[in-house]
Parts: sequence; C-alpha cells; structure tokens
Amino acid sequence: MKPEMIRTQAEKFLESVKQQQRILVTTHVSPDGDAIASLLAAAKMIHLMGSQAICFLDGGIPSHLVFLPGSGEIITSFDNAPENFDAVLAVDAATLERIGDTAKLIQPGQPIINIDHHADNPEYGHLNIIFPEAASTTEILFQIAVTLNLPIDKDLATLLYTGLVTDTGGFRYSNTSARAFQAACDLTQRGANPNQIAEAVFASNTESSIRMLTNALSNLDICHHGQIATMSVDTVEGREEPEDLAEYPLRVRGVVACALFRKKDGKTRVSLRSRGAVSVSDIAHTFGGGGHPNAAGFTVAEEIDTVRPRVIEALRQEVEKSTF
Ligand code: AMP
Ligand code: MN
Ligand code: MN
Repeated sequence: MKPEMIRTQAEKFLESVKQQQRILVTTHVSPDGDAIASLLAAAKMIHLMGSQAICFLDGGIPSHLVFLPGSGEIITSFDNAPENFDAVLAVDAATLERIGDTAKLIQPGQPIINIDHHADNPEYGHLNIIFPEAASTTEILFQIAVTLNLPIDKDLATLLYTGLVTDTGGFRYSNTSARAFQAACDLTQRGANPNQIAEAVFASNTESSIRMLTNALSNLDICHHGQIATMSVDTVEGREEPEDLAEYPLRVRGVVACALFRKKDGKTRVSLRSRGAVSVSDIAHTFGGGGHPNAAGFTVAEEIDTVRPRVIEALRQEVEKSTF
C-alpha cells in the first residue's frame, strides 16, 4: 500500500463521491465483521464528503455485529429497497455476484465503485480500489480517511478497528502486518476500544451457536497423516454460527488445511482454511468460489457426501504440493 497509490485512489474516490448525490453502499452475502464494518464506515465517509449514503444488504446482519454504530440504518428487506440512487459502492465483495440479489437493483450503466482487498477481484467497477496486501477492507478505508483528512471519530474508529480485528482473527492470521497494528494503534487512540470490540465480536455468541460448535466438532475427521480436517453442520434457518467456526480444526497441531461443510436449502456451502504456504483460494475457484490464500469458500448445488471426497482430494493435492 504505497502512500502515492493510496493518495491517487483516495482522490479518485473523493471525486466520484462528490459527483453523486445518493450512493447505495453494500457488501457480500453471509457478511463477516469486515463486510458490515466496511459498509457502515464507507457510508459515514460518504456523509463526511457531503453526499448521501443508503446502506443495503441482501440478508440479515449477524447478531454479534449489531453493536456496530449505525447498523440500524442498514436496509435488509427488498420490499424497502431504494429505487433512486446514482451510484453503487460495493465493499469487501470480490465479485459482483457476491452482493447477491442487491445486484438486481443496479441499473445498466450505473457507476459502480469497488473497494476490496481480495487478490482475485476482477475489477468489476468503474472505479476499482483494490489493495490485496491490506489485512481488511477497513484498512483501505482507514488509509483513505487519513489521506483525505476526514475526521475519524469514536464511531468511525470502532468500525475500522472491527474489520481489522475480525479479518485477522484477532491479529493472529498471516495478514497481520506491522501496518495493520499501526492502523489499530491509531484507531485505538481515536476511541476504538479493543476490549469492548473483542468482547462483542468473539465473546457474545448465543448458546445455540456454541452448541453448533459441539455439533461440528463431534464429526471432526482428521485424515492424510493428520494434515487435513473436515467437519459439517446442518444449517438451521435463523441459527447463527460462531465467527471462527470454520477455523477450529486448524487449532489441532499438524492440521494444515480444513473444510467446513454446511447443508443449506439443498446446497452445500463450504469454507476452506489453511496454514502458511498451503493455499486454498485456487481450490475455491475450481468449485466456482473464491477468497484469500488461507481463507476461501464456495457454494455448490450438491450434497455434502458428493462434494466432500472431491474437496478432500483437492486439499490433499494442495498439501502435497506445498509441503514437498
Ligand atoms: P467464509 O468461509 O464464508 O468465511 O469466506 C472466506 C473467504 O472466502 C472470504 O474472503 C470470502 O469473501 C470468500 N468466499 C466465501 N465464499 C465465497 C464464494 N461463494 N465466492 C467467492 N468468494 C467466497
Ligand atoms: Mn468479508
Ligand atoms: Mn475482508
């Protein structure tokens, strides 16, 4: 994230925002902490630049993220979908498909701004601000806000910090850089409370979501010399899962790649996680999804029993490739 690149992009962003009166801000379906935090932070920044932001999301807001300032302003019902807006800003969404049915609200030719940190982002916007080296999309928004001298109050600091702490798994994953810590430090000085945010995000699960963890762990299967792990859960409508459920098998010493399978509406949603040089993003692409080297995912219209052996074989090949 070279300062001159940030400056160029930040200025283009400011110029685009100023040209539009009403901007629809959205993010990816099955949103994580970085997704909701980036959506709300971007909306605040648009207001600070003098334009109007309408927050829209296909699907509900996970209950552990409702504490985020401004979350009540996110419209999640298509019955109340905004009709009049001049441009769209998608944050943390690697492809336009990832914003789900929100894409159907976009008129042909309507300007799209794309701010993201996925290396596989195909630059689907008219303005694309992509920094794969950023730990989270909020890290990019933070750099933009600082470059443009936007006032970062406690609420904005809380949002920007939350994206950082969730996408780095509490500053533990390989994307945890000195620059991410510098941003976190700056945001803490501006009012973000690391303890309160961590409590809200990681320690406010519902009882049923923790029971889902026991359900998943009860069928944990470790194979390929203790290097690959899988587990599965039945997704019950309305029941939430803990933010870090997919990552649990990596806590076993020796496990370098894992997959979590969820049965949902006749489809299977899969989350892949890996350690170090073992990359799972190519596997996710093979199955029509995407993501980062150590955290990726996809959804297929197949039963878990059919897709599971294919995923294990793909993981086995990837593990062999990276360890020999
Ligand atoms: P998840 O396993 O849902 O937490 O997602 C892990 C990473 O993979 C995130 O960066 C997601 O944006 C990405 N990802 C998950 N599902 C998909 C998908 N169907 N298509 C593209 N990227 C995905
Ligand atoms: Mn995300
Ligand atoms: Mn992200």
